[in-house]
Amino acid sequence: GSTVGILGGGQLGRMLAVAAAQLGYRTHVYAPEASGPATEVAAEWTQGRFEDADAMRAFAAKVDIATYEFENVDPHAVAYLSGRVAVAPSARSLEISHYRPAEKTVVAELGGRTAEWRPVDGPDALRRAVDEIGAPAILKTTLFGYDGKGQARLDEPADAEAAWSAIGRPHPIEHGVPAILERRVDFRAEFSVVLARSAAGEVAVYDTPENVHRDGILHTSTVPASPLVLDQAPDAIALATRVAERLGHIGVLTCEFFATEDGPVFNEMAPRVHNSGHWTIEGAVTSQFENHIRAICGLPLGSTARTGDRVVMENLIGHEADRWPDLLRDPAAHLHLYGKRDAKPGRKMGHATWVERPLTGSKPPR
Ligand code: ATP
Ligand code: MG
Ligand code: MG
Repeated sequence: GSTVGILGGGQLGRMLAVAAAQLGYRTHVYAPEASGPATEVAAEWTQGRFEDADAMRAFAAKVDIATYEFENVDPHAVAYLSGRVAVAPSARSLEISHYRPAEKTVVAELGGRTAEWRPVDGPDALRRAVDEIGAPAILKTTLFGYDGKGQARLDEPADAEAAWSAIGRPHPIEHGVPAILERRVDFRAEFSVVLARSAAGEVAVYDTPENVHRDGILHTSTVPASPLVLDQAPDAIALATRVAERLGHIGVLTCEFFATEDGPVFNEMAPRVHNSGHWTIEGAVTSQFENHIRAICGLPLGSTARTGDRVVMENLIGHEADRWPDLLRDPAAHLHLYGKRDAKPGRKMGHATWVERPLTGSKPPR
């Protein structure tokens, strides 16, 4: 069989590796950490930094196709890899989606709405941005943010200085700005569009999960979403599909949205499987992980149809994972633990999914 290479050693890589194994592929994980959720289930793994050209070259020689499980991979590393082995999603998908100004610009070009924002390269620019955008606002680093890290809220203009220190005075970056100021969106709900696009250009879209965050970290994803979100989903799906096509994206692409009084507002995208798509493991015919593997391996996509009337995914953050014995006793719960040893606060340790009243429409073959 062929070998799928995965850059990154976290839980997304772990679930990708499991899906790849189910389809008969071997996996080879490349990660900077000595061990992690993905390396523990991969057939082979390399410990190396993404800047280590020798290790990357050796990795490229051992895999048939490479993918990545987080967008905070250095695009240079992916571009380097692309010269040696097929990489999907492409370096272009990564370049756009890992840099906040680029993703917002592409979305605006394609007719989508974003929160009003300004580039910020220092305290002076931040003051100007606050003058123009006003408060409340959020200062965000343009690179390497996740789970609300690298963000600071400004309730009023006077908070600007504290916000600049709070995001750690990000280093100037090679091309572009280190931070942006975003107007805080007065949203009624949050949701995401999770879709897969195959090498042949086929697009499969999942039911739109409604997402609830706590302290900047995803807490639950629920399908079907509330009526407000269901109303706004078609526009958001159309936009996300245009984004995937514009990027020539191959694999899963996730776009996060705010549902506001006057329609969907794009927040950010991820060129990969996403936490708000974990419900698809049991809640959809083909999981986001399997469809990502199918897409990057040149296979046709599987059905995204829901397997139950209602599906709820809840993240187990930090010590919430200590509930695992109760979840095992809950006959409706599907428990996933990522094998992380240290339940630090804010750390995603696992998740659980409930599929309510499974539909019985599908029949096994005779
Ligand atoms: P992820 O783990 O999803 O990649 P992230 O660190 O990239 O997170 P964002 O998605 O930008 O962060 O923000 C995290 C959460 O903070 C959002 O889901 C939303 O709840 C809130 N948030 C972010 N930007 C805004 C905004 N402009 N207005 C209102 N709320 C916001
Ligand atoms: Mg993000
Ligand atoms: Mg987000």
